[in-house]
Amino acid sequence: MPRCRVCGREAEYHVPWSNAWFCREHFIQYVSRSIIRTYEKYIGYKYRRVLFAVSGGKDSVTLLHVLAPKLLGKGVDVAALFIDLGITGYSSVAEDIVRRNTDMLDIPLITIRLREYGFTIDDIAKLYYERIIRRPVCSICGMVKRYFMNKVAYENNYDLLLTGHTLDDALAFILVNLSAGKPYELVKLKPYTPGTDRLVARGKPLLFTYEAETKWFIKALNLPVLNTKCPHTPLKEGLVYEVKEFLYRLENKHPGIMRMTMKNLVDRIFPLIEKSLEKPRLVYCSKCGMPSSTDPCGFCRLRERVYKLLVKG
Ligand code: SF4
Ligand code: ZN
Ligand code: ZN
Repeated sequence: MPRCRVCGREAEYHVPWSNAWFCREHFIQYVSRSIIRTYEKYIGYKYRRVLFAVSGGKDSVTLLHVLAPKLLGKGVDVAALFIDLGITGYSSVAEDIVRRNTDMLDIPLITIRLREYGFTIDDIAKLYYERIIRRPVCSICGMVKRYFMNKVAYENNYDLLLTGHTLDDALAFILVNLSAGKPYELVKLKPYTPGTDRLVARGKPLLFTYEAETKWFIKALNLPVLNTKCPHTPLKEGLVYEVKEFLYRLENKHPGIMRMTMKNLVDRIFPLIEKSLEKPRLVYCSKCGMPSSTDPCGFCRLRERVYKLLVKG
């Protein structure tokens, strides 16, 4: 019978990439410590107002339960942000899950409702299925979420925004961006991006955490998470999905290779790429004031277009 590496009691959790077994208590400690270590190494405790973007999924809930108590203990102002995208049968369930988690931790929750800006992701999906707009729903949804994360953090004076991107997705995105020749997109997937005027600093403390670890962490603590699938999840699995499958096959043969690759990218390769990249030119959107590479910004252009299409309806 396998024994916990720390206390020698009967072990329940096997972590192949660290070649270790843990009991429940020490598995929770192992995951928490590795996330906190990433935070301390790449971000540190200089920020005094920190906003967590929480979707209700296992990754953002893990992030919140590990880091929020730690930051509160250091006297940091902490809040969570939930974006109600207006997805029928999904957004309200997600909001309820997020609220249960923030209540457990006694953290304020800021909720933004997309319908108050004139449309929902359900509207976008309808226009997409009717072939009136071409850009895939998830791509628009991602842009909307990124827009509100920064806007809410900036307007509420948060100086750091944390998101729950895990190793698996980030590494898959990096490989896809590499094959597409997109260096700017590639280097965005790092654990910390400092803030600039109206762009709030961002952190991804789960960047070296496997999805399996967040799944087991949620199970070990029996935390409420979202188990409902978004109805707009693409039916056909895309390139990112296939790259992830490839990474898992590689990981099975060489445990730890995904994390090692990410560490080397972040610590050795990205700094070299960044040195050769020009800083992207940003302007302020004349409609909403948020920084953007175009004027109006992508969100304001989308909002205007969708408004016209819905009114014409
Ligand atoms: Fe948005 Fe797509 Fe995720 Fe649904 S599956 S929440 S549409 S990104
Ligand atoms: Zn133990
Ligand atoms: Zn704008």
